[in-house]
Formats: sequence, C-alpha cells, structure tokens
Amino acid sequence: MLKIDLTSCNQARFRLAGGPRLGQSRVMAETDIVRGRDRALAHVEDWVFDLDNTLYPASCNLFAQIDQRMGAFISELLDVSLAEARALQKHYFREHGTTMRGLMDQHGVDPEVFLAFVHEIDHSPLPESPALAAALARLPGRKVIFTNASVAHAEKVMARLGVADQFEAIFDIVAADYRPKPDPAAYRQLAEAVEMEPRTTAFVDDIPRNLAPAAEIGMTTVWLRTETEYAQQGDIGDHVHHVADDLVAWLEGVLAARG
Ligand SMILES: [Mg+2]
Repeated sequence: MLKIDLTSCNQARFRLAGGPRLGQSRVMAETDIVRGRDRALAHVEDWVFDLDNTLYPASCNLFAQIDQRMGAFISELLDVSLAEARALQKHYFREHGTTMRGLMDQHGVDPEVFLAFVHEIDHSPLPESPALAAALARLPGRKVIFTNASVAHAEKVMARLGVADQFEAIFDIVAADYRPKPDPAAYRQLAEAVEMEPRTTAFVDDIPRNLAPAAEIGMTTVWLRTETEYAQQGDIGDHVHHVADDLVAWLEGVLAARG
C-alpha cells in the first residue's frame, strides 16, 4: 500500500508500507511512465520548468501558504467570509487561469499589491536540494523558469533549493504582461523572450492544463504528477507526453537514457 509521506518534503513522496523489493518496483513504476516517447528526450536542447510544486514537492506545503493568503486577500478586499473568499478564489482560478487575473479583471486589483501580499510567506520549509542542483547541472542545454508567480518569489525558492545558478532566466507573470499560463500568448512570449525553438524545448509543469498550449506550439511536455487538487483539474489528454512523480528521479532517468 502506498502512502504519502508528509513528514519531510526532502524525502521521496511515496513510501511503501510493504516489503522493500515490491516497494522499489512500485516506485519505479510510478516514476517512469512514458507514453511511448523517447525516454532520453534526445531532441530536446532547452528546458522550461514551472516553479511551485514542480521544483519542490507539493508536500512542502509552500504553495498551501500562498493559497491561504490569496483567500485572506479576497476576504479583506470584498469583505466576505473566508469560505466565500475561497469559493471565489477557485472560481477565478478556473475561469481566468489564475486567481490574480480574475481579481484584476473583475475587481481592478493592482497585480503588484496582490503578488507582494500572497508571496509574503515562510520559505523555510524548503530544504536544500543538492540532488536537483546536480541533475540540472548535468543536463545539457539552457534551463528557464516559467511561473505564474513573481521573480521575487522565484528567487527565494531557488535560493533555498540551491539551484539559482542552474537557470538562465525567470519568465514570470509580470514578463507575461499578467497573462498567466495557460493563456497561449504567454507561451509565445516566453519562446520569443528567451529565443527558444519550441520543437527542441521540453516543458515541465504540475498542472496538466498548463501543458496544452506548450504541446500546441510543438514543445515536449512533462506532467509532474502531484496529489494537489490543482494538478487534478483538466483532462489528461494527448498534450501530456511524459509523466513523472519525482522531478529528480525523472531527470536522472533522462540522463541515464542519454548515456
Ligand atoms: Mg506549479
């Protein structure tokens, strides 16, 4: 039986209650699902990574803090209960791509004020990840962050993980003119800004619907599967080319397949 380990986000997220042999094979099965595609991603020259719940496990609950602050922001702004605020938050996320976009469109919220407020969180649950830094360092090609959050938040996360040196650029919600993933315009803007050729670029994100516009313009997509409700929304369609449960293990698999 698999259970999710919430005691430490530094550990593999899936732990097995049964014997180690069965456990190992089950974990491998969870992390190596590939939909009939090239495991080495030999054609890929550049790599685009989402930030929250992708570079670090959702079990760190960092995004849960941001999520909570969004609710508090809405409750204060509209003078509604936290429960009503939560319902609105989810509604805007579904209908506008992000909660922030919904608040901008429907209530004229200043995005800079919103971004600063929701990212005022405790980043200390994030453990340093030398394994991720090492895997990224060994991976040939340019690496870029593509996030619906802000550069300030991304820099804090990357510093905690110890991977800041591994990335060439952060393309954030401000760079995307506040048009969040999955707005197709943001992907085109990203490809232009960092001069990446979509056909030789891979894109990793924990929210399946964010992969669709990337696949549409020719990128190879990787769904980093998590237990969060965000990640479960949307159909897992043909736009999901690869599935991974653990980013480090998956990258190491790519490196091993490349030889
Ligand atoms: Mg994410």
